[in-house]
Amino acid sequence: MTSHRPFFERQLAVWPLARQNYESQRQAQFRDMWFGSHCRIRLICLPARIGSSSARITAKGEVDRPCFLCSHRLPPEQQALPLPGTEDFHLLVNPFPVFPQHYTIPAVCHRPQALLSELDLMFSLAREMDDLVVFYNGGRCGASAPDHQHFQAGSKGFMPLQSDYPAWKDQGSRLLLQTVESRVYVLKDMLRTGWLIESSTGAAAVRQIRSLIGLFGQQVGEDSPDSLVNLLVWYDREQEGFAALLFPRRQHRPSCFYAQGAQQRITSPASVEMSGYYIFPRNSDYEQISPEELARIYTEVCLSEKDIEAISLKLRGLMQ
Ligand SMILES: [Zn+2]
Repeated sequence: MTSHRPFFERQLAVWPLARQNYESQRQAQFRDMWFGSHCRIRLICLPARIGSSSARITAKGEVDRPCFLCSHRLPPEQQALPLPGTEDFHLLVNPFPVFPQHYTIPAVCHRPQALLSELDLMFSLAREMDDLVVFYNGGRCGASAPDHQHFQAGSKGFMPLQSDYPAWKDQGSRLLLQTVESRVYVLKDMLRTGWLIESSTGAAAVRQIRSLIGLFGQQVGEDSPDSLVNLLVWYDREQEGFAALLFPRRQHRPSCFYAQGAQQRITSPASVEMSGYYIFPRNSDYEQISPEELARIYTEVCLSEKDIEAISLKLRGLMQ
């Protein structure tokens, strides 16, 4: 285990801004929206997230501002915790939390966001920090710093697809394929499209995810498909197994983000929203959003069921 918990406490003790934001996070309003008896979306209102949700990022995943994850630009209170098994990444407390414990795990050196070369590391971090969910947002689907390689990690027990797992699986997924070390499921009737990968070993899950991302790129004619995925990974020590959720995306933001007046919703769905923990920085959006609007947002930003089916069939073909 890493010593992230005592590190977290030490950071809060010396950093008033982070302490205040964690206090606000604890007091945030939330409500649940149910779709059928198995699909729960938790809506949460967090005004401190306005910067992230409305960040100016181009369709190519480019930003026009100094990088806030580079070590020399961190606030004076912020410290970095070295991580076991890697000298390339370190752990930072996220001062704009959506979980009671929320970390950013940036590369020590400045380089653009990429996933395929770092999949093994994500799984080893998830095993090391098994009280957290480790997640990745592609540069064109939710990362607020697509210019600097990073993961995030947040407390277990808050994102419904993790906290309600495996209860939702019966009605919310179907088994696509099974190997000695892994099982791949297609999500169904969950508003979102994507895959659940279960595995006793990180290496087996990494192989399936790598294949799925490659097939996704072929399906949509995309050279860097890992910039268009959200991935979440966690480890269950009692079950001695990993679970991962992979969401391929067709759009960064839904059309309502760009609408005017009452139709506008400030939202940038990323891994956290994909796993059913839906953050609205504006109280009016949190209060007014309807089940129909939420379903439309997911439909617009997720890959179509037709494409998911085509990729799934190809994956099964690869395994035979
Ligand atoms: Zn940087």
